[in-house]
Amino acid sequence: MGYKTLPTICYDLHSHSTASDGVLSPTALVQLAAANEVDVLALTDHDCTDGHAEAAKAAVVAGIRFIPGIEVSVSWRKRLIHIVGLNVDGADAEMQAGLSELRVKRERRAQEIGAKFEKIGMPDVYEGACALASGVLSRSHFAMYLVEKGVVKDVQQAFKKYLQQGKRCYVGAEWASLEDALSWIHGAGGQAVVAHPARYKMSRTLFREFLKDFKVLGGEGIEVSCSSHNREEATLMASYAQELTLLSSVGSDFHSPHNNWAKLGRVHALPEGCVPIWQDWNES
Ligand code: AMP
Ligand code: MN
Ligand code: MN
Ligand code: MN
Repeated sequence: MGYKTLPTICYDLHSHSTASDGVLSPTALVQLAAANEVDVLALTDHDCTDGHAEAAKAAVVAGIRFIPGIEVSVSWRKRLIHIVGLNVDGADAEMQAGLSELRVKRERRAQEIGAKFEKIGMPDVYEGACALASGVLSRSHFAMYLVEKGVVKDVQQAFKKYLQQGKRCYVGAEWASLEDALSWIHGAGGQAVVAHPARYKMSRTLFREFLKDFKVLGGEGIEVSCSSHNREEATLMASYAQELTLLSSVGSDFHSPHNNWAKLGRVHALPEGCVPIWQDWNES
């Protein structure tokens, strides 16, 4: 007698809507998730939970499970790190106070980015970016505006030429401390997960130090399978997860249907041996 194969549940625990730099409304995002056969979807907008209520409603209609999430901008030793929070209560006052401070810093930074563009002869970039944002203003909106104006051919080129660290119109900022980010997420009843860990360009020694700090502060998980990881990177992250006893997460980091490398719900399954972040989530 063989074992009965259980149907595989499709999780996508990292995605964006128009509440930050995604191009789909929370409703359209949930509808696309359902069409792509996602069973469990987390909305994790940058420093903002405004999309939760709409996504939760749409998920009931679409018949999928919605996980309220967040992606917090963190500065760790002067590096920008993204920490995803899963199952956070958007009504938590302390988390909201922290996120609101981050959004003030974003606005200030956006104005400074605009001033840099003005200096190089493009005076309308700040206004253009604002016009494209219906929620939290992000560097992505600057990139989209530059594409729209024909200054660059695509968003990647906008980052490469102007917006990423070291480039002409980059402006740094001091985001949340790792300690604060984890305390907001935990205070709001959530689990903290290191987003797209292979993107940080840290040496293995430094990355291990980061993970140890994360673990000491009670961090729960790490994205092992995500759109920006190849198989080798996923295997490496799975080995860190095992070494540091961290749970593993899966997320596409979906922003737009026009983006070919991050499709909603299209992420590799976790490598064998990983303990999934959802292991203790009650079925409902
Ligand atoms: P911000 O949070 O405003 O600093 O903007 C960061 C966002 O810009 C990320 O969440 C990505 O969506 C996007 N991004 C960052 N770097 C790149 C890149 N090199 N190419 C395309 N998009 C990028
Ligand atoms: Mn983004
Ligand atoms: Mn991110
Ligand atoms: Mn993201």
